[in-house]
Amino acid sequence: MPATNYKQMTIPMEDHKTTPTVAPFAPPGVMIFNCGLPAFQQTGEAYEAFREFNSQKKDKSGAKRKMLVFPCKVADNMGLQPVFCPICGAFLKKNGTTQIDVLHIPFGTSRTVLRADRQQYQCTNPECRHKVSEEIPFKIDAHKVTQQLENLIKDLLGMSTITLKDIATITKTDKGIIKDIDKKRLLEQYTEQGEDGKRKMKPPTVYSPFIGIDEFLLHKGHQYATIIIDLTTGHVLQVARGKKKDVVYKFMDWVGKDWMKHVKAVACDMNTDYCEAFQERYPDIKVVFDYFHIIKNFNEKVVSEVRKDEYRRLIAEGRVDEAKHLKGAKYILMSSRESLEAHDALMGQVIKPGSQLFDIPEVKVKKALTEIYDKLISENKLFLTIDMIKEELKEAFTTTDADVMKKMIGHIIAVCYATGNSHFKWFGNMLKNHRSGILTHAESHLSSGKVEGTNRLIKTIRWQAYGFKDDEYFFLKIMDASRR
Ligand SMILES: [Zn+2]
Repeated sequence: MPATNYKQMTIPMEDHKTTPTVAPFAPPGVMIFNCGLPAFQQTGEAYEAFREFNSQKKDKSGAKRKMLVFPCKVADNMGLQPVFCPICGAFLKKNGTTQIDVLHIPFGTSRTVLRADRQQYQCTNPECRHKVSEEIPFKIDAHKVTQQLENLIKDLLGMSTITLKDIATITKTDKGIIKDIDKKRLLEQYTEQGEDGKRKMKPPTVYSPFIGIDEFLLHKGHQYATIIIDLTTGHVLQVARGKKKDVVYKFMDWVGKDWMKHVKAVACDMNTDYCEAFQERYPDIKVVFDYFHIIKNFNEKVVSEVRKDEYRRLIAEGRVDEAKHLKGAKYILMSSRESLEAHDALMGQVIKPGSQLFDIPEVKVKKALTEIYDKLISENKLFLTIDMIKEELKEAFTTTDADVMKKMIGHIIAVCYATGNSHFKWFGNMLKNHRSGILTHAESHLSSGKVEGTNRLIKTIRWQAYGFKDDEYFFLKIMDASRR
């Protein structure tokens, strides 16, 4: 790299105007600079005021917020002022002025308000009398905010961990404005105008040979939604209300036959009938039952139920202490041995610092979860079987040899039946009935990572977008977050 030639970069002296002016350019404490707002013209000195900018009924605090007000107007001859009535085409005449407050990037801790006098017009046609307001070139169309403020909000929205409330606090705006700007951005990115004039989702532009389909709880109630993802990229392709086969039919119509013909395999939960819907129309598509869902089913339908049965048995036998002990062991029984070992590796370490000021003791890792786990499985044959099945399932899903996997799954099914326990039998039956889809895993090398990742993502978005009962927005946020 050659050394920078500073002489060349220096602006010639005569253009530089370094000669100090004798009279000060501006009064003390005043900055004069080009704010970059199109057609903005300040008409008086800025002043501080305490008033609600946009008093919303929701804001019950009654707190008065400080704001910095810049009196202004649209610079003469710089706006595109209306001449003709947009309704009848007759000439317009001036009809007094009103005031409009436009929010700008905040200075320090206050809102910055551009308070503009706005020329009003009225149609000269006595039959029409239509009223038109002057254009404000430094205001965006949808909201009373400047382009610069909207850009700042969009930049902040690009950060993945920030909440809408945080952005509203930083930009001194309302959460509603942030959400509207965000939704507008998402609609532009993910939707397009359909032939019937309605907005519709843009279909995917690249093929996805491996897709996954899953359901998730929409709200605290019992409403479900379905999510379809590209398992290679993790991109969410579609989110839809409901969890019926109908969702799959609509998805296939939307992406079209050509796109569907490029799908090689679809991964889903054994407990749903999504896969059937795919195979009805495209019998060549392979169905894969992924590890994540199989473990989820095993934990929810076997581990959890067996533990509850055991708890009831101990209570009935009057062994209350042992029952209590078991009640607290839910997490331990559902965890994999690795995560228990990872926990125990932190033995003796401080996981929560204490405070001498507030008399809070520090918390150290002191219980060895693997010991508790080993004790549980040594005392109870069913827990031992749970442990064995988990280990074997994990191994079966790491092999790429279909024959080896077949043997292992066959063994698990036999063990399930041998227990004589109804929950294990249920699981054994499910494995048996979905055996071919499970064995496809060995050839497809599909990893559950993206399925699990999407599950976590939905939880985060739910928390960030909390408070908006707008499913459309929630779904768009999920699609967007999966592409980050
Ligand atoms: Zn008119």
